[in-house]
Amino acid sequence: MIIQDSEFGEVIVRKNAWVRGVKFSVSTSGRLQMSVPKYTSEFMAKRYLKSNRDNIRQNLPLKDPSNQRARDYQKKQLMKKARDYLPYRLEYWAKRYGYKYEKCRLSHANTRWGSCSSNRTISLNIGLMKVPEPLRDYVILHELAHLNHMDHSPAFWREVSLHDPNYKTHERRLKHFSPGL
Ligand SMILES: [Zn+2]
Repeated sequence: MIIQDSEFGEVIVRKNAWVRGVKFSVSTSGRLQMSVPKYTSEFMAKRYLKSNRDNIRQNLPLKDPSNQRARDYQKKQLMKKARDYLPYRLEYWAKRYGYKYEKCRLSHANTRWGSCSSNRTISLNIGLMKVPEPLRDYVILHELAHLNHMDHSPAFWREVSLHDPNYKTHERRLKHFSPGL
């Protein structure tokens, strides 16, 4: 259930049979989230919210709800761009250097630019659409090299450097950007 609140914007209400009291937290998207007992009505949820307003304001690192909609929109646009670009760019580099991966997944985690799983799925963060192309390519080549080396051993870095001789600079420059929105 989602309730609209004039101060906190969209509030996510999770009903849980095992919860006894009401618990407030922050969702991954920065929204206010509350866990309530299973039979809580919308009316009751709003009452809990009202009586905890001060407590929430003081204790929870919420994002400004007026920015929420803008951020959601931005994320959607970025996802669209990423879908039309990243899987093809990955395929391009994989073909060029003879890598075989299983699947390309797009992610929007806040902490990592990409990953490569042992079942050969490569995940690329849609936030890559916001960084300069050489850095984007570096992340792709980095994840492709993980298909052969599932670690950051010297052999791994040697392989990365074969395809991106400037990888050290790219890795350093990438630190000035954040994958989250
Ligand atoms: Zn890595």
